[in-house]
Amino acid sequence: MTNHYSMYIDGKWVEADELYEIRSPATEELIATVAKGSVDHVDAAVAAAKDAFDDGTWRRTPPAERAALINTVAEKLAARTDELAALQTQENGATIRITGALHVGLSVGQLQYLAAIAEQYQWETAGPAIEPIAADGIVVREPIGVVAAIVPWNIPLLTTVWKVGPALVAGNSVVLKPDEHAPLLALELAREFEAAGLPPGVLNVVTGDGEPVGAHLSGHPLVRKVAFTGSTAVGKSILRQSADSVRQVTLELGGKGANIILDDADIDMAVDGALFACMANNGEACEAGTRLLVPASRKDEIVGKLVQRAATLKLGNPLEPTTHVGPIISATQRDRILDYFRIAADEGATTAIGGRAPCGPEFEKGYWIEPTIFVDVTNDMRIAREEVFGPVLVVLSYDSVDEAVAIANDTKYGLSAGVWGSDERALAVARRLEAGSVWINNWHIIHPAYPFGGYKESGLGREGGPHAIDEYVEEKFIALDRSGGIENKAFAIVIDPAVG
Ligand code: NAD
Repeated sequence: MTNHYSMYIDGKWVEADELYEIRSPATEELIATVAKGSVDHVDAAVAAAKDAFDDGTWRRTPPAERAALINTVAEKLAARTDELAALQTQENGATIRITGALHVGLSVGQLQYLAAIAEQYQWETAGPAIEPIAADGIVVREPIGVVAAIVPWNIPLLTTVWKVGPALVAGNSVVLKPDEHAPLLALELAREFEAAGLPPGVLNVVTGDGEPVGAHLSGHPLVRKVAFTGSTAVGKSILRQSADSVRQVTLELGGKGANIILDDADIDMAVDGALFACMANNGEACEAGTRLLVPASRKDEIVGKLVQRAATLKLGNPLEPTTHVGPIISATQRDRILDYFRIAADEGATTAIGGRAPCGPEFEKGYWIEPTIFVDVTNDMRIAREEVFGPVLVVLSYDSVDEAVAIANDTKYGLSAGVWGSDERALAVARRLEAGSVWINNWHIIHPAYPFGGYKESGLGREGGPHAIDEYVEEKFIALDRSGGIENKAFAIVIDPAVG
């Protein structure tokens, strides 16, 4: 029997008039049906979140107890790693090689880290005495209110816990809107929060389309913060929408990561690393290394090895542990990638390998793109400037390290970058790159204790890291004058020239 998922609003599982069919992008088999929410469900969820916040049960729960509940959820998810990894693979086609360790494992680690830092967090700090009026100063960090969390389909659980985790740890209420292609792990997360005893209304999940449901949520007047991961275009629309009510916004948007191989790099390692950087998660990763910058003097050698190694990548059933690259999320996204192949050819790029949808019985169902590498690419071509979001790598060459840095930074994005070479030389280059994460001799290093986010049009704010909770609190300064009366104190600062 097909699994069915309802929405989670005010502690109840809520049905809708319409359903989504979640089908495997590899086989088109029906995986689950999901209630398709409307703007009315958003209104109900935001109202429930606001009521829960005003009621205050959760935000007045001591931080250590909030952290303990988060830890319980993390433990439950960890115990279900294999099951949830398989569900994720079936739902969005990310390979089973990475859904366990990356999608579920990193999410568990993130929640555990948040629980740990919540216990150390300075929820309230006393500052220095305020002279000359002898007042005490306190800074209180308190939750913001109703948080809207809107997440994509490519790495759904991690992008969800990056928002829901710190928002809940800080005592906020949340309305979560997963992507319509991949809502299942968000709903499984809600099940675990319900089982762990989170009060009703504190976490709500509304499944619905970006338009109108997502837009209604991000523009809702009772929402005080929007945390979003997805396309730069939608991120900008959320930022514009938030200007009217001066609402806080965190954005994780697109990327076009530059991956620089220096001439003293271990080339075999760098070549494998370049494929990992670009092709992991089927190339559907905002932080993928999609522009490979190679020294002109070693271009032929590197491209030769790259093509040789790319030919060994196994494209196919993402549930097979030996598969490296799975399907594309949808027919629309596959066709978008095929359009980019035509654009690249028109602009003069040469296909070194791939460049088409594969043929054969295994690929009759589902949506597929061969791992693809373009050479003869320059940084002004659309294939080098725009986010393709698929297993597509472009190779550019450079003559000097200065030129490599200039090409790497010549992009509107700034999410990730990488350098392959001897440690100190690579570190010097890394310091010059405009990107929120720079990996040396590796890629995709995401760790709960380190921030993740983008420069330039790749985003605003950071997720994870030691300051994750800061993004979900308001800081309130309280000054208490204990000296009795304002006659000779506060006003004196303003009106007495001797003091002021
Ligand atoms: P998207 O921005 O359209 O969708 C992301 C989330 O936002 C989904 O939950 C969607 O329902 C919601 N949404 C869509 N329109 C909205 C609106 N007007 N207001 C509020 N919410 C809205 O991204 P996508 O369709 O999943 O992918 C399109 C492109 O986005 C990709 O090709 C890629 O370039 C980029 N992308 C980036 C990331 C990332 O992690 N940085 C993830 C996924 C996609």
